[in-house]
This record gives sequence, structure tokens and C-alpha cells, in this order.
Amino acid sequence: SSFVHQLADEQLSEAELLADPVEKIIAVGGVRHPSIPLPVELFGEWKNSGGIDLQERKILAETAAAVAAFPFSPVPKGTDSGAAAETRAATGHVGAAIDRAAAAFPAWSSRGREERATILERLADLLEENRIPLMSLAVKEAFKTLPDAIGEVREAADFCRYYAARTRSDLAPLVLPGPTGERNELRMEGRGVWATIAPWNFPLAIFLGQAVAALVTGNTVIAKPAPQTPEIARAAVKLAHQAGVPEDALILIPGGPEIGAAITADPRIAGVAFTGSTPTAKKIARSLLEGDDRPIVPLIAETGGINAMIVDSTALPEQVVADVLTSSFRSAGQRCSALRLLLLQEEVAANVIEMLRGAMEQLVIGDPGDPATDVGPVIDQAAYDHLMGYRESAKGRWIKTLPVPAQGLFVPPTMVRLDSIDDLSREWFGPILHVATWKAGALEETIARINAKGFGLTMGLHSRIARSAELTEARARVGNLYVNRSMIGAVVGSQPFGGEGLSGTGPKAGGPHYLQRFCAERSVSVDT
Ligand code: GLU
Repeated sequence: SSFVHQLADEQLSEAELLADPVEKIIAVGGVRHPSIPLPVELFGEWKNSGGIDLQERKILAETAAAVAAFPFSPVPKGTDSGAAAETRAATGHVGAAIDRAAAAFPAWSSRGREERATILERLADLLEENRIPLMSLAVKEAFKTLPDAIGEVREAADFCRYYAARTRSDLAPLVLPGPTGERNELRMEGRGVWATIAPWNFPLAIFLGQAVAALVTGNTVIAKPAPQTPEIARAAVKLAHQAGVPEDALILIPGGPEIGAAITADPRIAGVAFTGSTPTAKKIARSLLEGDDRPIVPLIAETGGINAMIVDSTALPEQVVADVLTSSFRSAGQRCSALRLLLLQEEVAANVIEMLRGAMEQLVIGDPGDPATDVGPVIDQAAYDHLMGYRESAKGRWIKTLPVPAQGLFVPPTMVRLDSIDDLSREWFGPILHVATWKAGALEETIARINAKGFGLTMGLHSRIARSAELTEARARVGNLYVNRSMIGAVVGSQPFGGEGLSGTGPKAGGPHYLQRFCAERSVSVDT
């Protein structure tokens, strides 16, 4: 497509990079800025892109101009000319694509760790160099706000650099003791063709994170982006090929659920990495077990959650309010980590709610490409209808809601009162925050009731009592626990991310044990 050519044209020289406002944003976070010491000692060979003050409105304004100038208009989502046609076109290609990926496996897997790691680092550089088109697509195709679009590119590059470093440090063959003089070795090798199935909410970071984890461990990959966000995936794959991944080692298959089903039904698939809904994860798990002769293969699933934040009477209210707004409304609530259920200790509930009502008034809802915007539209009409229907059904319990622009898929950020913690039993993937109270002395019981919902992705606690933090750390059955901070924005290499129970199979993206899940472990023992 013409977009692919634009990518090539967008390659910038070093001088242009430094003159570029977006480069400044990335630089401020610590990627290249010479005056900011990089936390190399924290990460060994690897360094992440660090924190950044995303409220730097001036820099965002400059970035916005570049994004606005980028010529891209998505095919309206959910129309027949969009995802549906794409799906029909691709169904027949799945088998042929898997043939190609299977044929490419022996050569790619024998390339060696160092070479594959270097390719990932080259890809990280290309992502940063091409951040203008990538951020533009994140805004225009996925409706990401500018801070979120910047976060996409940074996290995708972080995944590449982190997994490259872990490949070098952790995946060398291990020599093990030989009690009777034999030579024992444990090798980490590719398994074959992995299928990666990505969500639309992190259409670059998660899409690429899954694919590069599979690639760097020696697998070839069939990568299916969400039907809502094929173009940014196309751009990512194009850059991966440019970085040195052979075309047949990473094959993009855009499409909807039918394509996903055709991929996971193929017995040559050696593993699946999936991020999306809990019901879809279960469908995939069932499909992988079909067929008596089919190999038993791993599934890495990262799904949703009913994420709760517990606030006690010692918490700092201003901090609570800031962290609640970030956790529940940023990205229009479309993160699986997002806060869904705020649990306030009775004594402070009225005060915190009053402060939240006031603070919500400050949220700017509108065009995601506008630097002032905090909350953009939701992803598509189906999501809009689903969320608006639920919101309407909860009308009698609204504590606060906000006006939104008349045109566009804007779901008003809404705070909904619950009579009981147990009244919320499913995830609503949007800017809807539920609030309930708990009684002093009932922390343990409150955690147990959250755990009992069966999800286990993120949980938050705001408290200045060390004992309460310890208790929560010991009892919370979640993949990611956040104390006295927001609950979103896990940083690669610092907060490995992934849940348990109904929230997923457990492996942590951006953590030190992730790559091993993509490997076959082979033990070789040679008598000498
Ligand atoms: N890693 C993201 C975060 O910490 C969430 C990923 C997701 O929504 O799938 O906010």
C-alpha cells in the first residue's frame, strides 16, 4: 500500500531526529538524551525508556502537528469493506502461510541467538526512527491519545531491546553436572511456528512484543493483529523485515475471529500467544486440544480483569484521586490493567468521592490527536453500543458522568455506585468506574471478596499502614499489585505484566521468564 512507501520516506537523518519534537519526548525519557544518566546499572546490558512527564503539553502540541499532517484515514471499522472483506480474503491463505513459516523454521532457528538478538535491536532503532508514522497510525487507526501513542512506540522498542538482552544473558545452553562422567547440556530452542494473536488496545506494543518474543527464541511466526488495527501491524511487520527478519519467518495475517480460528485449528502450530478476552482464550484452549493426533502445545493467554483498588483512611486523598483518574479513564479505560472497582473505606468515602467528582470535571474529552485530550473515543461502534447500553442500565446509580462531543464514539467517563463489592461480576472495557465501600477492620475480607471473582490481573492499595500493605501483598491473587500508585502502565523490565485465573495463564510479558515459555527445552546427555 502507499503507506508502506511513506514509511520508507519517513526515515529521518540523525540531525532531523534531534530537531524533531518527538525525538525530544523520547529523549527526555532517557533513550538518547546525553544529559540524563541512563539506569544501566539497574538493567544490566539493557535499558528501558524510563519515565516521562506526559503532561508536557508544549511538546505534545508540536507532536500533534506532525501526526495531523500524516495522511491516513482508516476504512470505517465494522463495515463490509473493512475487516469483513479482509477476513474473507485471508481465510484461504492461512494454510499456505503456515507452509511457508514451517519451511522457514529450520534456517531461522539455526541462525543463533546473537544474530537474532541483534535483529531485534535493529528493529527497536527502526521503530524509533519511524515513530511519526507509527504514532500517527496509533492515533488515527486505534484512536490513541498522543501520550498513549508515544507510549506505544516506546514500549514496542523496549520489548525488542529487553528481549534481545535476555536472549543473550539467559538462553545460552546450560552445562549440567555429570555424575558418571557424562556430558550434560540443557538447550533452549525454538519450537516451530508460533501463532500470535494481538488486541487492538496495544496494536503496536503487544502485537510486536508477542511476535519478537517468539522470533528471538528461534520460532517462526504467524501474526494476527486485531481486525480493527491492521495497518499499524502491517507497518510493524514491514519494519521487522527491514531489520532482518526473513519474510517467511514473520507472516502477517490480518483478519477477524474466523482467521484466528483457522490458524489455531492447524495442527502445525507449535504454540499460541494470545491477548484478548477471557472467552476467546478459552475457545483457543479448546481448539488446541482438538484432534487425537495433535501435539499438546503451549498457550500463553493474557485476558481481562475486574481490577480493584482498595483505599483506606490513611491514604493521601489527592494522590488517590490522581491515581484513580489515570487508572480508570486514561486510554478511555481500554486497558486490561485499568481500574474497574474502587473500594473506599467508609470513613473517607464521601470525601474522596466529592474530590473525584470535582477532578473528573477537569478531564478533556475529544479528538485523540489534540494535545489537550485526556480521553478519546472507544475503538468501534460495537464497543460503543455495548458500553452505552450498560451505562444506561446503571443510570439510577450514577455518581458522576460527563458531557462528551456530539460526534464520534465517545463514551462519557462515568462513576457508578455499587451497593456491594459482589455486585460487579464482569469486565466492562471502557471508561466506567464502579465505587463501593468497605468497613474498617475488613481489609482481609475485602481482598478475599475481590479474589473470589476469579480474575487476577491488577490490584491497587492506597494506605500508609505497612501492615496493610504486607497483608495485601500476601493475600492478593493478582499478577500485578500496585501500592500507593496508579494501576496502569507496567514498564518493560520493571513491572513484568500478566495475570492469573480468569485473567490469563501467567507468563509475564516484559519479564525475565517470558522467553523460556516460547522455547522447547532439550536435554542432551553424552556418555564420554
Ligand atoms: N501493560 C498494560 C498496562 O500495564 C496493559 C496491557 C493490556 O491492556 O493488555 O497498562
